[in-house]
Amino acid sequence: MHARMTASPRESGLDPVAPYLSGMAPHVVIVGGGFGGLNAAKALRYAPVEVTLLDRNNYHLFQPLLYQVAMSGLSTTEIATPIRSILGRYPNVSVLLDEVVDVDLDDRRVVLRGGEALAYDYLVLAAGAKTNYFGHPEWSRNAPGLKDLDDALEIRRRVLLAFEAAEREPNAAVRRRLLSFAIIGAGPTGIEMAGALAELARFVLARDFRRARPEEARILLLEAADRCLLGFDPQLAAQACRQLEQMGVQIRFGAKVRHIDERGVWVGDELLEAGTVIWTAGVKPQNLAERLDVEKDRKGRIVVEPDCSIPGHPEVFAIGDIACFRGPDGEPLPGLAPVAMQQGRSVAYNIVRSIQGERRLPFRYRDRGMMATVGRSRAVVQLRRLRFDGLPAWLTWVAVHVFYLIGFRNRLLVLADWFYSYLTYRRGARLITGRRLQAGVPRRMIEPSEVERDALRRAEEKGEPVPSPWNGGEPPPPEPYPAP
Ligand SMILES: Cc1cc2nc3c(=O)[nH]c(=O)nc-3n(C[C@H](O)[C@H](O)[C@H](O)COP(=O)(O)OP(=O)(O)OC[C@H]3O[C@@H](n4cnc5c(N)ncnc54)[C@H](O)[C@@H]3O)c2cc1C
Repeated sequence: MHARMTASPRESGLDPVAPYLSGMAPHVVIVGGGFGGLNAAKALRYAPVEVTLLDRNNYHLFQPLLYQVAMSGLSTTEIATPIRSILGRYPNVSVLLDEVVDVDLDDRRVVLRGGEALAYDYLVLAAGAKTNYFGHPEWSRNAPGLKDLDDALEIRRRVLLAFEAAEREPNAAVRRRLLSFAIIGAGPTGIEMAGALAELARFVLARDFRRARPEEARILLLEAADRCLLGFDPQLAAQACRQLEQMGVQIRFGAKVRHIDERGVWVGDELLEAGTVIWTAGVKPQNLAERLDVEKDRKGRIVVEPDCSIPGHPEVFAIGDIACFRGPDGEPLPGLAPVAMQQGRSVAYNIVRSIQGERRLPFRYRDRGMMATVGRSRAVVQLRRLRFDGLPAWLTWVAVHVFYLIGFRNRLLVLADWFYSYLTYRRGARLITGRRLQAGVPRRMIEPSEVERDALRRAEEKGEPVPSPWNGGEPPPPEPYPAP
């Protein structure tokens, strides 16, 4: 017989969420419908349990293709699927749209944003990660990260608006600045974004503008480390960089960002001017991990046991990006979709084994390799000892991504879109949307910043013309920015 629900939310003064629990079978609550949570829920579909999956979004997002939405290659519906439509056919699985803000490990319940509580017999935490600005959340204003659909649409909006603003800008120096893009972080996402942006500018937009000259866009990829694609074989990573450079992307290693403002990126005392800055430099676990009084690693991830449970709480599991699972070499497993998917299935089987009174099995990760695409017919693939690049790697990348996409319709649509783009160099999802569209973004990018305005004012007072992009000259030498 299963363990009865141990917590009575009413006793705690919190409203229980009803009527989702029949109380007839152990209740498994899964927080997050991403790669980990969705696989756990699917693996429990025939198990003698009642499952409630909670997600603050009503869709499962295929994050590996998020950059394609940001770069106008795919539309949102091609990489996001309503969770309800994925799990709707399993009678023992309920889906709730809500955010979990806390977990009461002693009373075995999760607390929702509205103050309601949901009791569990088993809990699977699969809330994933969010963008990490390394102590500088204020940078997010000028440098959006790429973690969800809103981020992707915001980046797409800024990139397309930059070309629009350049088209109507008579001053060549200002145009140059508008068409300078800085991408921070040369991991797989930064590499893929830089390659896709180079293609967007050089091939897709080049013929649609008269004055902006998108093909002259400057794309700067900044990386604090001394190489790109950390975690990949160094030779393969170098090959990816070479391919990017052939596409016109400028790469700077050892570039530690000190500050980001509306003029661009400060590396030490040097200002790298950019009209659009994109942040792909890191992620950290969702806030929920912080709320739990359990052991965390350096990055704030929940340290888990070999069966992915939390020490001292065998009924609670943490999987995917929110968890720190040490592999046989003692190193934490990387934040990759296959890790989350395999862990999701593993904890589901262990929950069933626990209910049946059997011993749990430790989680073992089957490494499926790593890959990153640099652009059309260019990619790098690392599969155990096998390494390859170029067209074969790109075709492998296409096959794997289409295979793992959720839903036959999405696979078909994505394949059709890619085939069309491959043949025509066109991208369909080039819409500028969002309520902030008319909120003066082109103005913000065209107008001088406060510092530059001051320089112009002082020069005017002295009767001296200051060479600057705003009066037709070269920009003034960068002033050291006051320590942020
Ligand atoms: C741009 C990008 C590109 C990537 N490319 C690759 C790639 O090419 N290959 C690869 O293997 N991996 C890639 N990854 C990493 C991969 O996407 C993650 O490792 C994987 O998504 C982790 O799965 P998860 O289930 O832990 O979290 P996620 O898939 O992020 O799912 C977490 C879910 O939890 C929900 N959630 C969060 N907090 C709460 C809360 N408090 N209450 C309710 N719901 C909540 C979220 O809405 C989300 O649906 C990429 C990631 C990004 C951001």
